[in-house]
Amino acid sequence: MNFGELNLVKEKGPRHFHLGASALLAALFCAFLGVPQSSARSIDPTLKHSVVHAAQLRALPPLRIDVAASAKVSLSVKTEFSSIKREAIALKAAKAAFARARLRRISLDYARPTSNYRLTARFGERSRLWGGNIHTGQDFAAPYGTSVRAAEAGTIIFAGWDGGYGRKIVINHGGQVQTWYGHLSSINVRVGQHVKVGQFIGRVGASGNATGAHLHFEVRRYGVPINPVNWLRAVGIWV
Ligand SMILES: [Zn+2]
Repeated sequence: MNFGELNLVKEKGPRHFHLGASALLAALFCAFLGVPQSSARSIDPTLKHSVVHAAQLRALPPLRIDVAASAKVSLSVKTEFSSIKREAIALKAAKAAFARARLRRISLDYARPTSNYRLTARFGERSRLWGGNIHTGQDFAAPYGTSVRAAEAGTIIFAGWDGGYGRKIVINHGGQVQTWYGHLSSINVRVGQHVKVGQFIGRVGASGNATGAHLHFEVRRYGVPINPVNWLRAVGIWV
């Protein structure tokens, strides 16, 4: 490469030229590669950096690009890129670990509403059993008499018979969230009682509108039934 071959923009004065952007880049690149500075010495130091005499330009020796050095540059860029990539992967893993730890901590405040179950009728299903209406909870089929436990700490606001729900318990958890437990065979709490998370509150049965022993578990937020499985899984309780 030779400065004499580069495009130069003519300035006001007849003897001065501005170096084009490409020439400037080439000069920087050569400086970066450690090209001997002898060429720079011939430029009048009193002039602005970007302005050189045409005669001086012609006098400059041709600049050569050191291929080995430029290969080194591309190698170091590659190394830099892979180290950035490694850091990004490590950061992603750290974020995931943090999220898991956070969810584990949150999950301590929640519990499965019963045990020894299998999930049967899902939230949102339609069935003749509910008069063609949408199923407002999640059914946990479990042996008759299996313990039913508070999914979250709260206060009992209902404990008694409620039509199709049969024997039902409602726990108010604050923040406009309630959990409902239906078709129970026994109720072991009373209204006004405070219960801890996982506390025994009753037993699985088939009271009310039920064809077999199961717990109808319902979650209501602002009075509206929401998907109980999603609610539990969002707080780290896998059902
Ligand atoms: Zn149900």
